[in-house]
Amino acid sequence: MMSIIRGMLPDDERTRKAFEIFADAGQWLRARTKDGALLWGVPSQASENVFYLTDAYGCSCPDFFYRGIGNNLPCKHMRAVRLHELGE
Ligand SMILES: [Zn+2]
Repeated sequence: MMSIIRGMLPDDERTRKAFEIFADAGQWLRARTKDGALLWGVPSQASENVFYLTDAYGCSCPDFFYRGIGNNLPCKHMRAVRLHELGE
C-alpha cells in the first residue's frame, strides 16, 4: 500500500490532475501486452483522440519520457492508474 501512494503528495500538481483523470476512468481503454499484462489506454488531457498506454510502472506520455523515467517520478496518468487499481 505505501509503495503505491508514495510520491502522491496532495498538493502536488500531477496528483491533482491524476484525480481528474481518475474521475474519467470509465473512458479508459483496456489493452494487454504480449505476455498478458494489463495496460490502460488513458486519454490525453491536452490532445483529443490521443491515448497513452499506462500502467502503475510506466507510461508512453512525454512527461514520463522526459521527466519521469530518470527521476523515478510517476506522471499523472500513472498516478491515476494507481488510484484506479487501489479500487479494484
Ligand atoms: Zn503519462
